[in-house]
Amino acid sequence: MSKIIQAKGIVKWYGKTVLALNKVSFEVDDGDFFVIIGPSGCGKSTLMKIMGGILDYDSGEFYIDGKNMKGVPPHKRDVSMMLETYAVFPHMNVFDNVAFGLRMMGKDKGYIDSKVKEALALVEMGGFENRSPLELSGGQRQRVALARSIVIEPKVLLLDEPISHVDYMLQRKLMEDFKILHRKLGITFILTTHVQEHALTLADTMMVMNTGVIEHLGKPDEIYRTPRTVFAARFVGDVNLIPGEVASKHGKEYFVNTEIGELRSSISNGEDLIGKKVAYEIRPEFIEVENDSATCENRLKGKFIRYYYFGNYVECVFNLKGKVEVKAAVPAEKAINLELEKEYFVGWRSSDAVLLAKPSVIEGLNIEEVIYGK
Ligand code: ADP
Repeated sequence: MSKIIQAKGIVKWYGKTVLALNKVSFEVDDGDFFVIIGPSGCGKSTLMKIMGGILDYDSGEFYIDGKNMKGVPPHKRDVSMMLETYAVFPHMNVFDNVAFGLRMMGKDKGYIDSKVKEALALVEMGGFENRSPLELSGGQRQRVALARSIVIEPKVLLLDEPISHVDYMLQRKLMEDFKILHRKLGITFILTTHVQEHALTLADTMMVMNTGVIEHLGKPDEIYRTPRTVFAARFVGDVNLIPGEVASKHGKEYFVNTEIGELRSSISNGEDLIGKKVAYEIRPEFIEVENDSATCENRLKGKFIRYYYFGNYVECVFNLKGKVEVKAAVPAEKAINLELEKEYFVGWRSSDAVLLAKPSVIEGLNIEEVIYGK
């Protein structure tokens, strides 16, 4: 697979105090749907602007399709950037909005007519050419903005936080539009978001960022199942994290001392864990309740204290020994039989629990700080 993007040790300072990107290195496969996820302020937008050529960096190297981009202006980069606001020009009709980039490039009328038509058809907006953006719904306006980005046939489409600022129904629709369009065009999409659901749904590859550094880059299921750091685990999917210290190992199984007693796990992302502090991680869908937990290596009594209804499942919160709360994703038909304030057995298998030895790739953070998000 050829690499359409190569970033090598990119450093970006704002003034002398804000280090927005701290030696960021990564590669993107050609044709990938690549999602950059991380909390607000972690450097996503800065990275997008650098890739789009509207912001320079202090050191490192950046390549698109094997070509060094130092000093290459945005319109000579084979990238198109769609910013979070989706601004379409209100005084131009749909056709002129989409044609804008091609006219700037000096293309002739016949070429522009056919390319605009093609782009509008791709976003299912054929027939709207003469409408004013003011006569369109929010979703339609966004599709016009998308058509405007793809009409110049970029190799890479950069989408900076395009989803999170619209209402929920439109978010679902946009995610669908992006997936379909990505398939149809076959080009590389790079999208930033701070919302887990968007990242997990869209990404072929995900890059989890934390204040200027990469915490984990990989396939969504790999990051979900075996996150490199506690930070990455917290940022991708729902998770229970319990601080503990590894006491011993028998065969494949680690025994971990925690404030709710000894817990077992047979998966870890570190070596030589004996005596080390770890985050003991178990995802809510692996927690079994009552009889289903009978054969689990980890089994404790917990008080059912709260629940959140999600239609097909219910997230039930159990308090274990008055010290630790764990969330279990319980099928709705089972959850209906549970009574609040009653005690139930909850359990999970060693092979579903992961020991995370590293709080973050940033040095100096401790496990509790990252678990509790301080
Ligand atoms: P994100 O897109 O992940 O929210 P940004 O790339 O916008 O993050 O910002 C990264 C860091 O750089 C933050 O600390 C932010 O406050 C800072 N920053 C961004 N733009 C500027 C700027 N123009 N001047 C100074 N600091 C900035």
